[in-house]
Formats: sequence, C-alpha cells, structure tokens
Amino acid sequence: MTQTILRIAVPSPLYRSFDYLPPASAAADTLQPGIRIRVPFGRRKTVGILIGLAQHSTLDPARLKPALEILDTEPVLSGDILAMTQWASAYYHHPIGDALATALPVLLRRGQAVQQAGAPGWRLTETGLQIEPDTLTRAPRQATVIQQLRAHPPGAPRTTLDVPAGVLRSLHDKGWIEPCTLEEAGEDAATVATTPHSLNPAQQSAVDAVTAGLKGFDAYLLEGVTGSGKTEVYLQIIDTVIGQGHQTLVLVPEIGLTPQLVKRFSARFAVPLAVLHSGLSDRERLAAWQQARSGKALIIIGTRSAIFTPLARPGLLVVDEEHDSSLKQQEGFRYSARDLAIWRARQLAVPVILGSATPSLESLFNVERQRYRHLVLPNRTGAASLPSYEILDIRKQALEHGLGRPLLKRIAHHLDHDGQVLLFLNRRGYAPTLVCHDCGWIAECPRCDARLTWHQREQQLRCHHCGTQRPVATSCPECQSSELRPLGQGTERVEQALVEHFPEVERLRIDRDTTRRKGELARHLEQAHSGKARILLGTQMLAKGHHFPKVTLVGILNADQGLFGTDFRSSERMAQLIVQVAGRAGRHDRAGHVAIQTYHPDHPLLQLLIRQGYPAFARAALAEREAARLPPCSHIALLRAEASRQSAPMTFLEQVRQHCEAAGGTGIELWGPVPATMERRAGRFRAQLLLQAARRGDLQQLLHGLVRELEQMKAARQVRWSVDVDPADMF
Ligand code: ADP
Ligand code: ZN
Ligand code: ZN
Repeated sequence: MTQTILRIAVPSPLYRSFDYLPPASAAADTLQPGIRIRVPFGRRKTVGILIGLAQHSTLDPARLKPALEILDTEPVLSGDILAMTQWASAYYHHPIGDALATALPVLLRRGQAVQQAGAPGWRLTETGLQIEPDTLTRAPRQATVIQQLRAHPPGAPRTTLDVPAGVLRSLHDKGWIEPCTLEEAGEDAATVATTPHSLNPAQQSAVDAVTAGLKGFDAYLLEGVTGSGKTEVYLQIIDTVIGQGHQTLVLVPEIGLTPQLVKRFSARFAVPLAVLHSGLSDRERLAAWQQARSGKALIIIGTRSAIFTPLARPGLLVVDEEHDSSLKQQEGFRYSARDLAIWRARQLAVPVILGSATPSLESLFNVERQRYRHLVLPNRTGAASLPSYEILDIRKQALEHGLGRPLLKRIAHHLDHDGQVLLFLNRRGYAPTLVCHDCGWIAECPRCDARLTWHQREQQLRCHHCGTQRPVATSCPECQSSELRPLGQGTERVEQALVEHFPEVERLRIDRDTTRRKGELARHLEQAHSGKARILLGTQMLAKGHHFPKVTLVGILNADQGLFGTDFRSSERMAQLIVQVAGRAGRHDRAGHVAIQTYHPDHPLLQLLIRQGYPAFARAALAEREAARLPPCSHIALLRAEASRQSAPMTFLEQVRQHCEAAGGTGIELWGPVPATMERRAGRFRAQLLLQAARRGDLQQLLHGLVRELEQMKAARQVRWSVDVDPADMF
C-alpha cells in the first residue's frame, strides 16, 4: 500500500519543506495545497502550510511523524498566492516556510480559524443622514467623515476614516454617527459617489489604453509629472473594472503619509474598500484580508505586504509611486512588491499599472526594452504649471543654521506676496552631532560607526541607527572644555533660525519627532494643507504625494548628500526627491519656484535635472549605468554578514567567495568582501560580498547552489548572514 506523504512548509530558517504523515483522522479530499496544518516541530508545535503531496520521502518512513491537526477545509492560500510565494521564495532565496508565513495575516499564522466576526466600523444615524457636509465649514474633519459615510451607507471601517478618535467621538456625541460591525452590512450599490473630472487628452488616452486591454496581462508605466492627474487616471480605470465586477489591488509605499489617497478612493466609489497597512491591529488586518478574499471589497489599498492579499475576482493591479524603495522589503524576506505585482498580474492575466512622476531606472529600462507600455502625462491639470528651478551656490556663504542669505531673501519675498513656503531637509534633530571647539572631540555612538544626533528640545544625544540615547554633555569628556557646539543642521535647528528671522509667521515642522503620536501627522498635514502655517519645514515625510495648493516656494536646504552618496543609486534617489519635493509647489493657479542650495552648483546631473527635467536626467543616468554595467543593465545580489566579533563576517564572506570561485559559475563577477560603509552598527560588525552577472539566470543558478552550501558551512555559524537579490540599498 502506498502511503501519502504531506510536504509541509514550516516557518523556520531552513531552506526546505518537511515531510509528515497525515493525521489519523484526515479525509483525503481535505488535503489540498494551501491549507494550514498543525505539526510537531522539534520540541514545539507550530502551524505549517501544505504545499504538496508525495508518495515517497527521502526520510525513512518509520521516522516520519504524523501531523497533528488539519486547520482548514479549504486553502487559506489561493493557488495564485501559493505559486507566487513559492516563486518568490526561490527567486529571493528565502526559506519557503518563512516566506509563506509572511503571506498570511498574523492571526492565521498562529492558527486562528478563518471565520471571524466583522471589523469595527461607523455609519451614519438617521439624524446624521440629514446633515449636509457642506454646512460644516468650521469642522472640516467632521465634514469629511460625513461625506465618506454618505458614500457608504452600510458603514465604513474605522481604518478608512483615518481621523483622530476625538472627531468620531464628537460626531457620536451629536448623535450623527454610530458604531457598527461591518459584516452585518449588506452589499453597497456600485455607484460613483463623487463626480469624476472630465479628462484631458493625455489622461483620456491613458485610460483608453488600459481599459481596452482589461481582458489580459499587460504592464504599463504611467509617467506623469507631479499634479498631472495620475490618481484620476487610476480612478477612472478602476471605475470600469468595478463595472465589470472585478477587484483592484492598489499598492502604495506608505499609507500613513498619504491619508488623502485613501480618502479620495473611498469618497469616489460607493463600494466596499479594504485598507491594509502596518498600523492595523491583527484583527483589523484579518478582516480586511477576508473582505479581499471573499470578493466583498472591490478596492484594496495596501502597503508592500498587501501584494500577498488573495483576490476572489481580480481585475487590475496598481503600484503607485513605483520608484519608492519602501516597496522593497529590507530585511528577512527581501521581496520587491513592485516586481511581484508584475509577476502576479501576468499569472492572473490582468493588467498592472506602475505609476510615478519619477520612474525608477528599472522601469524606464523595461519601457526601452518594450516590456512595459509607456503612458505619459506631460502636463499638470488645469491652470497649474510646473515650477521653475534655481540653484543657490552656498560656497563661501555664511549660513545661518543652514539657511543662506539668498534663500532667506526668497522666503521673505514669497511670504510678503502671500505665498506659502516649504523647506526640505532630510535630517531631523537639532544638529547631526556635537563637537568640542577646543580639542575636536565628536559625540559618537558607542555602538555604531556613526555620530550621535543632538536633539535640543529633549536635551539628548540620540543615535538614529541603533536608538542609543544619553543626556547632552555640558563639558567635553576629553578635555573638559565647556565649548561644545552643534555641527551641521537638522530640522530642529533650522526651525530656530526661522523663529529668529520670521518671528511673526506661523511655522510647522513635520518630521518623525513631531509626528510620533497617533493622529499628529494627519493634523499637521491638514494645517499645512489649509495654508494656515505659512512656513512648512520637514524631512521626506513632506515630499510624498501631498497637495499643498498654496505653496509657491520650495527650498531644498542641501542637495549634496545625494550627489556624493556611496550607493550607486544615490543620484537617482536625489533626483527623485528633488522632483517630488518640488512637485508640492505651485499646484494651484500660482506658479511655483524651487531653490536648491548646494556646494556643487556645476554638478552635471543636477544641472541636467533642473534644466531639462527628470526624463533627460534619467536617460543620462541610465547611460551611466549601462557604461558601468550596473543595474538595471546587469543583475546583482548582496550577501551580507554580521557578528559581534569583528573578523567573523569577513572570514565567512572570504570563504563564500572561494566557494563561488570553485563552483566556477559562468558570467559571475565577485566584488569584495568589504566591510559595510557603516561597519559597526548596534554593536555588531558588518561586511558584504557583491555578486554581479549580465544574465539573471547565471546569478540565480549560483545562488541556488550557494545557499544550500552555506547552511552547512561552519563559518556560517559564527555570523548572521542574508541574501538580498536586487537590493534596493547597497549597505
Ligand atoms: P497626481 O496623482 O498625478 O499627483 P492627481 O490625480 O492627484 O495628480 O491630480 C492633481 C489635481 O488635479 C487633483 O486636485 C485632481 O483632483 C485634479 N485633477 C485631476 N484630473 C483633472 C482633470 N482632468 N481636470 C481638472 N482637474 C483634475
Ligand atoms: Zn574637548
Ligand atoms: Zn548607534
């Protein structure tokens, strides 16, 4: 008699699945790939995923253990998610058990039953239904909630409303809204709630191109300058997809930073919408996942990991801000949600749209190779025009807390003319570090090769890499001098300069330090949006996707970090950031102006960017990549290792290198190993080895053999190592 063997993926760091016998009670027809099974694993019990059945095991059948319990009657991982995750596990060289666990909501990973009570939400009461949102001009947040709930009579989940709890409480106190459980709610009618814009010709042809091809796979790169109406294009295509009864999955880099996007989607369509991001409770996440899986939610908006959301009736995938590096997971299972979206769309035979004002060189390369179709929105909508650029040379200039004279003059000018000013500096805190004026001592992190940032308000020195913090010293630990001074600028320090120069003007600083508490970011963004705060100052949190209609001047305090970064993508990132920040200006009827402070005014890429725009910059940058044979014109993987003993990572990676050389893989070049740019971080030493190949297949073949070899290697036990395929960051 042949025995059925269960091939089960169990969350573990091992690159393999495990064989078990079926539990005694299991009926054969329940054993479908994608179901969860509780199994004994070592000394504990855990939840694994069935990935296949076999007749034979490489293990002695007598040693196979029976699985304990079948948890599902039907697969929790649909065929397409299972296939995509298995492919990704192989491509990114990440253990299958762990990869599949990533694809599941936490509660399911722990073995909870799929059937669940509904998600908590809010709906309008009878009285609330009578309220005209337009009459609530003095309570704009209340008006938005009323507007959203009018579009969703059965109720909307707490997560899509995205206002501070206090706003909901006051509405509840007025008797206008009430809590509800969303599963009780019936289906909404699929109608358009707010009126769509009539499209301009470029938007129209983009919409037409995609809607003509809704029946099968095609990849589109929607390249539209900031404010060109990309979102409107998505919305109108989605309208057609909804009309066909199909679901759309929209991936965005960070939902916390773009609450407006979710609001726009939910106000436009009176259909159930699910939002998935890291700020949800486990229960909310599971509820959203179920709404997607059952087909109830017709629009699913989520961050990176939402790519694993099952869809009952898929019709379209959208990846917004496709250039954003946060779409790539940087630890553990290092997948790219953008690249998986392409894979998944192909498999589902649906179109996928990648949208950006500043597309990644990877995607532009794919357009060049005719793998993606290029849809271009060259102009801003309506009367808005693109901003003008100006470079401010700060060599030999006295800077006041990072602000040069010319920039201060321009700020004053725009404030005088009733403009709003946005200042960008990608560094929070008061100053990047503290230095002794007498002996040159610098405040360094004891655990990292990095300096401690001075936070003035808290009177603390903090490491932004490991979180170490200590009180600011009043005297130098080396020479006891009391002449300790800030070196460089952070947002906190620039703010101080603004207080001195423009004491009467209302300011707003937006960075991670001022938006730690829940709801704070939304409140700040609202103030920024209304124009009440006349000067906005912030880090890249301000750069992403917001509309500040009254901004007329954007000041970039220092463009040089990007020009001379150690990563080969530094200049690409810098260009994207400049264009994205600049895109916040002049979105309305008034022209915007962008002033960039730099010590390198003649830098060719910077010149190209501001004179000819992002597409010209991208062409030149791509030519440089081609010449240097860097991605996307080649394929790379990084092997990283870290340990508390300094020599261990290098010793290990040397052995890896020797192994690769001995394996004699064709077409592979090895670079390193070298210590990481910041060798010591949080007390651990780090090093890396770069593998490069002209052909993806060669690299994959080498890595496939390699990771299995590494599991056995003795030196590997002295370090923590990882493989990063198509790394987004080189350190
Ligand atoms: P993007 O996503 O490219 O930044 P949006 O879709 O957010 O652009 O559009 C920018 C602004 O222009 C929004 O306020 C939007 O409502 C408006 N808009 C979009 N399309 C049109 C159109 N065809 N006519 C008028 N206004 C439009
Ligand atoms: Zn000193
Ligand atoms: Zn540190």
